[in-house]
Amino acid sequence: MAINPEKVCFARGDEAFREIVRKATFHVCDGAGTAAAVRILWGVKIPRITGIELFFQMLAVAEEEDLCAFLLGARPEAIERARQALRERHPRLRVAGCLDGYFHEDESESVVQEINASGADMLFVALGSPKQERWIARYRSMLETPFCMGVGGSFDVLSGRVKRAPRVFRRTGTEWLYRLAREPWRWRRQTALIGFALSVLREKFRLPQPRLYRQGRHAEIEEGAVSGVAQSSSASRDNGTTRSDSVRSQLLSTHSAGD
Ligand code: UDP
Repeated sequence: MAINPEKVCFARGDEAFREIVRKATFHVCDGAGTAAAVRILWGVKIPRITGIELFFQMLAVAEEEDLCAFLLGARPEAIERARQALRERHPRLRVAGCLDGYFHEDESESVVQEINASGADMLFVALGSPKQERWIARYRSMLETPFCMGVGGSFDVLSGRVKRAPRVFRRTGTEWLYRLAREPWRWRRQTALIGFALSVLREKFRLPQPRLYRQGRHAEIEEGAVSGVAQSSSASRDNGTTRSDSVRSQLLSTHSAGD
């Protein structure tokens, strides 16, 4: 799971989501805010890779290793265009299937069956956060796919519907600023960044945290989820299959190659 300030803040106020974050098999540091927090609090410089960059790298890995991918999420027209874009970007990549993300909750089990029947090795879920994390957590035990990853708005980018931030924003870790300028209606979500920054500073200077943070539960999240290092959690669902091992080791090497 890609960890960003928005997810950390949301997890602090939602116990069930906090548990989902903790149980993710891998935590990767998604963006500058999380990396800065770890540096400020623990003096450790960790590699970071944005969720979308990791998604693109995993697609390249899938093509290279002959693993097949399933895309779940986004609007019907976006997912169709994303599939076409994939054919151009990764002509050898096997796409096991694509389904848009506008299905009813009641249909989730048949969605899972379709994914399982496709024999996909990798499942990318683009339902937005926290919906995608909740969906994966809820159906993880039914899914036979060894690797699942929530990818937010990545299919919209892949389809060309949404433009990625120019390089200068990506390099300086200010993609969120570019996004805010292009989609100002997201401002409410971005306020999480301010809350996150303030809580990191309070923690650093040992100032009292607001009531929610004082309950002591957030510490587990910060030490586990904001580690930024791809790590295996005790709740890993890995059942020791070769497919799973291959995907896992590829992810580790992909992540350590991130900037
Ligand atoms: N989406 C979906 N089903 C839903 C809600 C959202 O497939 O019920 C898709 C939406 O079309 C978009 C993505 O989820 O492609 C969310 O993108 P966003 O940029 O909001 O995600 P974030 O990374 O910010 O969570």
